[in-house]
Amino acid sequence: MSHDLFEAARGAMAFAHAPYSKFPVGAAIRAEDGKVYTGANIENLSFPQGWCAEPTAISAMIMGGAKKIVEIAVIAEKLALCPPCGGCRQKISEFASKGTKIYLCDETGVKKTMTMDELLPFSFETELG
Ligand SMILES: [Zn+2]
Repeated sequence: MSHDLFEAARGAMAFAHAPYSKFPVGAAIRAEDGKVYTGANIENLSFPQGWCAEPTAISAMIMGGAKKIVEIAVIAEKLALCPPCGGCRQKISEFASKGTKIYLCDETGVKKTMTMDELLPFSFETELG
């Protein structure tokens, strides 16, 4: 991974809207078009209505016209490693391949690299996707 993806994820984290959990998270996707799309978690007073950083980044990617995640970095200010939650693993897998790299970062850089298949083995798939 080039350093720019980590920097993009860290920069995105600053945009988190996390007044309730005080748990900012940032994500950055490099898509097949070579562009980097970022996201942060966005909470809501009606708690179930909030969402994670990864879907924000996926939304940016889709609205940017890209469809394929080449690599993705995730960072949380208050965790040494912030693995995507279960729901986000499924969301990421929709736009990834089994070998897509997921970088788990802390404030200093990438601390762990995993593939999509390692992060979500035996994933839900149909012939529709
Ligand atoms: Zn999540």
